[in-house]
Formats: sequence, structure tokens, C-alpha cells
Amino acid sequence: MSTSTAQIGVTGLAVMGSNLARNFARNGFTVAVHNRTAAKTTALVEEFGHEGSFVAAESAKEFVDALERPRRIVIMVKAGEPTDAVIREFAPLLEEGDVIIDGGNAHFEDTRRRERELRSRGLHFVGVGISGGEEGALLGPSIMPGGSTTSYASLGPLLEKISAKAADGTPCTSHVGPDGAGHFVKMVHNGIEYADMQLIAEAYHLLREVAGYSPAKIAETFRAWNRGRLNSYLIEITAEVLAHTDPASGLPYVDVVADAAEQKGTGRWTVQIALDLGVPVSGIAEAVFARAVSGHTDLRGAARGLAGPKAAALAPEAAEAFAAEVEQALYASKIVSYTQGFHQIRAGSEEYGWNVDLGAVASLWRGGCIIRAAFLDRIRAAYDARPKLPSLLADAHFAEEIAAAQDGWRSVLVAAVRQGIPVPAFAASLAYYDALRAERLPAALTQGQRDFFGAHTYRRTDREGSFHTLWSGDR
Ligand code: NAP
Repeated sequence: MSTSTAQIGVTGLAVMGSNLARNFARNGFTVAVHNRTAAKTTALVEEFGHEGSFVAAESAKEFVDALERPRRIVIMVKAGEPTDAVIREFAPLLEEGDVIIDGGNAHFEDTRRRERELRSRGLHFVGVGISGGEEGALLGPSIMPGGSTTSYASLGPLLEKISAKAADGTPCTSHVGPDGAGHFVKMVHNGIEYADMQLIAEAYHLLREVAGYSPAKIAETFRAWNRGRLNSYLIEITAEVLAHTDPASGLPYVDVVADAAEQKGTGRWTVQIALDLGVPVSGIAEAVFARAVSGHTDLRGAARGLAGPKAAALAPEAAEAFAAEVEQALYASKIVSYTQGFHQIRAGSEEYGWNVDLGAVASLWRGGCIIRAAFLDRIRAAYDARPKLPSLLADAHFAEEIAAAQDGWRSVLVAAVRQGIPVPAFAASLAYYDALRAERLPAALTQGQRDFFGAHTYRRTDREGSFHTLWSGDR
């Protein structure tokens, strides 16, 4: 007879699952481990068994039998159909109240569907967003769990133990909201990550082409920025990448890498869902499109030689002043992309009735995840002070910071346009800011055109109601 001693089980022992299982074990939990291909289970326990208490299970039945009740099973397999296949295999072996946790990068709509189906069978299903890559899974990721409150009561204490901790010691996890809320928030995290990366790339491009800095000098500049308000994991690793020399050629590493960026799809999902919800995430969208543009090497080849200005590097003193303006443009644009991402989370929360606490989301992103940044403390403070804050731009602190940065932001864009440097995310961010603060937008004209050709009607500024004009084009 088997003894049920494991507090948690992990099935799917590729890099993420193995590291997560080791993280649980290192934190004192007994972990049942299982993988479709059993050799990986044996290999994990052979290599890392000394780190903690593992129970290796060859079959699904052995795995389930090894777990204390209510069982907690973490699935870490390829997202999509493999996750459904694993659920089909395990669900019939489970009992009422058991918790299935999907730690993969699932689409939140899949999570909603799975949660509904399993709930009708008396099981809890928790979609968990995990950020931090391989290293995070092992040393402490940022964890975004969805699912029921009951499931969090059983699972939360374990997640709080294995998650990253913010500088003040707070675990980088908390219950985000019901069903797909965790995976939705993880999706937006990735969208913001795309925007952050693109903004940094644009800053690099400007420093290289307009300031005339070498990659090593830009690495130094980023290191200096990392000591200020831009302090973040992505700025830190950017400096490392730029300082790296390719050992084969002796050239800066960044000069020998093909300039076509790839993507796995979570940034694209963010934009697709934002379109469905009507949320303008223009900075994130431009970041996704910028990767797509870079990947169209055929189109780029066909366009080479088209007319346009050639960037000319500034004199050293002017370059230094320009670099300071680039920092302002980067910071202001970063505020805008977080503003857009948090708007999307608020919109998703309202659409699906999740009641997501935006300050808590900012808090759990402060450590472990790819977008971790000092700046998130400020966002948390903004939502703590006003939980119903309509936009981060309405927070007095951020409004003041943008006010102080905007001259530099605008000059950088002017320089980029004049010198023919593409800065889609900087430009989209500034356009968003200017659109929101505008007294009047040309949308009034758009409404007139819609009424003209389609009798779509319009509202007036001076009277309530819906109006249609009898245009000369009306027949
Ligand atoms: P992966 O390459 O996405 O998946 C490999 C694992 O899936 C193996 O254990 C494999 O088992 C299993 N698998 C595939 N098809 C299966 C099926 N039909 N039935 C049962 N098992 C199946 O692994 P990974 O890179 O460790 O990622 C795991 C999950 O974490 C994915 O959803 C991924 O998107 C997510 N992820 C997150 C991050 C992050 O930073 N948060 C990073 C990477 C990945 P076999 O050994 O038998 O083939």
C-alpha cells in the first residue's frame, strides 16, 4: 500500500517543471514528481534527490496515490492540447476538492474553459501565471494564481514560500482573482515586457546612431540609469548584453546577432485581447509589430535604398545632453506602457467579474519576474492610495514625472524623425499621452463622416440625445 506523504505534485519535468519541483523540495515540501517519459523523473531524482524530499512516480496512479488530500497537482507541460491531455489523464483519478494547477503559459480563455469543466466535476482548477524563466522557477518566481478562493487557501501558503520576495520581504504572489485571472495578468505582464524591451531597444538605437555611442559606452550609460528611477532587471541585463564581446569575432556581441526578433505569442495575445476589450495598448502593440517588422527580412531587403535621411552622430557634449533626454523619453514612455497594461487588467477584471486588486498586481511583479523594477513600488503606492484610480497618468506623482520628462521626450522624437530612426513605441506612447490630455480630438470629424456615409448618428456637446444630419449625400 502506498503512503500519501507528498504535499504537492509536479507533472511535466522539462526545465520549468524540474526547477519548480526542486524549488518546492528546497523549501521543505515533499514533492511527488512525474513525467510522461519516466526516464526524466528518474534522472531528476538521481541528480537532485539530495536537495529535498522527492517521491518519484512512474504512473499517473502512483503519482496521485503519493499525494496528501486535498491533492495539489501542478501541470508544467507544453501549453495547449498537451495540457488538456494531461487533465484527461489525471482528472478521473482525483477526488472532490482536489486541486489541479496549470503553471504553463495557457491562454486565459482555455483556463476559463478548463476551470468550468473541472468545477462541474467537483475539482478545483487553478491557472497560474509564472514569470522569471528557468532561474525564477528554481530560485523564486513571481506567481500569479487564479482560481477559487478555496483553492488559494490550500495552495497559497506553498506558493508564498517558493515565490520571490520583494525587497521588503513580501512574497511576490497573491490570489489574483477567479478562473482565468492569473493567466490574464501573466499575459499582460508579457505584453508590458515586450513594450519595456522595445523601448530599451529604441533608446539603444538612438544612443548608437544619434549620440554616436559604442555598445560599451551604451552599456555604461544603462548601468548609470540602472542606479536611478529606471532601476530594473531588463535595464540591468541590457547593460550585460551590450558589454558582451563575441569571442569568435572579437566584435561587440550585439553586432553579430541577426537583427530579426522572434516571439512566442503572449505579446500578440495581449494585443488581440486588448482589441476585443477596446483598450488602447498602442505601446505594447507597436512593440509586437516592431518584432514582426524586424522579422520580415524579405520586405526589408526590398526597401533597402529607399530615400531618407542618414543619421549623423552628435558632438560629444551634445551627445551627453541627448543621452539625458533619451533617459527622459524612456522613462515617460515606460509610464505610458504600464498605464496601458494596467488599464487592460482593469478592463479584463470588469469584463469577467474578477475584482483584481491592481496594487496587489504591481506588488507581486516587484520581484522574480522579467519586468521587476523599482518603479513598481510607485505603482503600488498609487493604487494603494486610490484603488479606483482611472489611469496611472491621473496619479499626481506620475503626472509630475511626465511633466518634467516631456521636453526631453519630445526632443528625442523630433531628432528621431529628422534622422530617420524608427521609434514606434516612443512615438505611440507620446501620441497616447497627447491624445488623453487633448481638449478636443478630431474624433468629432470622424463622427461626422460616419454620420454622412452611414447615418451612424452622433452625440452633441450642447444637448443630450442622438442626432443625424440630412447630408446632401442622403438619397
Ligand atoms: P515544454 O518544452 O514546454 O514542455 C515539455 C514537457 O511537456 C515535457 O515534460 C513533456 O513530456 C511534456 N509533454 C508534452 N506533450 C505532452 C503530452 N501530450 N502529454 C504529457 N506530457 C507532455 O517545457 P518547459 O519549457 O519546461 O515549459 C513548461 C510550461 O511552462 C510551458 O507551458 C511553457 O509555456 C511554460 N514556460 C514558462 C516559462 C516562464 O518563464 N514562465 C518559461 C518557459 C516555459 P516528455 O518529456 O514526455 O516529452
